[in-house]
Amino acid sequence: MVGLTPVEQRAPGQWQIATVSGVKQETPRVKSFRIELPMWMPHLPGQHYDVRLTAPDGYRAQRSYSVASSPLDEGGVELTIDRLDDGEVSPYFHDVMVEGDRVEMRGPFASYFVWRGEAPALLVGGGSGVVPLMAMLRHRRRATPELAMRLVYSVRSADDVIYADELGDDTLLTFTREMPEGWAGHTGRIDASLIAEMAADADIAFVCGSNAFVETAVGLLLETGIRPSRIRTERFGPSG
Ligand SMILES: Cc1cc2nc3c(=O)[nH]c(=O)nc-3n(C[C@H](O)[C@H](O)[C@H](O)COP(=O)(O)OP(=O)(O)OC[C@H]3O[C@@H](n4cnc5c(N)ncnc54)[C@H](O)[C@@H]3O)c2cc1C
Repeated sequence: MVGLTPVEQRAPGQWQIATVSGVKQETPRVKSFRIELPMWMPHLPGQHYDVRLTAPDGYRAQRSYSVASSPLDEGGVELTIDRLDDGEVSPYFHDVMVEGDRVEMRGPFASYFVWRGEAPALLVGGGSGVVPLMAMLRHRRRATPELAMRLVYSVRSADDVIYADELGDDTLLTFTREMPEGWAGHTGRIDASLIAEMAADADIAFVCGSNAFVETAVGLLLETGIRPSRIRTERFGPSG
């Protein structure tokens, strides 16, 4: 597709020692980490990396994190991590990792949940599920702004809006628990009319979030008539 980085699907690289070069507090419980990779290779928007932490006694914990950045940002990736209070890896990133720290990473992974320039595209994200969708949105804005892409982004409250300063006319936000003062937009969970309105002419849909969110969104997309083969999903975790 003209304008998109011509990246072929490749085997993920080997484990490499990456370096944190920047940390941004996105919301009270979400931080973005810019991470430089010595053996960087371009990813496709939607792909993820595996991150591995090793304790002094050799105990290891490994988790997957979607790339939030466009592959046009060469040399590294941005990961955006939601802090789970009872988690192992996400609190480590939040409470310990600072600029200059090193971390083992391997990727990019996944061939199915990737955007390759299909349009019109509808992105549907719940909570931190917006992360790989933001890679698609950012890449499309820079590489192929003429392609139609819209994002439906469901959050609990104003405090939970990740990438708040980057959400534009292509994004429809809905607040499920608490809306900001003076908010005249959508409230409540995603529903049939919201998805039907946004999906109008969509050729493909990408859905990411918790299991429950993905189930609901896929059901609504099918109701609008989008074929199952044109709905791509990514699930981050067990909770609703
Ligand atoms: C392909 C893929 C991409 C992912 N991308 C991202 C990303 O971009 N940003 C991000 O923040 N996370 C992402 N995740 C989730 C991430 O891999 C971890 O599962 C998450 O950070 C929790 O790890 P932890 O070690 O902190 O918690 P754990 O120690 O694994 O779990 C602690 C507790 O939280 C529950 N739990 C685990 N994961 C979740 C979750 N996602 N939501 C709610 N409860 C959970 C567990 O059941 C357990 O009770 C992704 C997962 C996958 C599979």
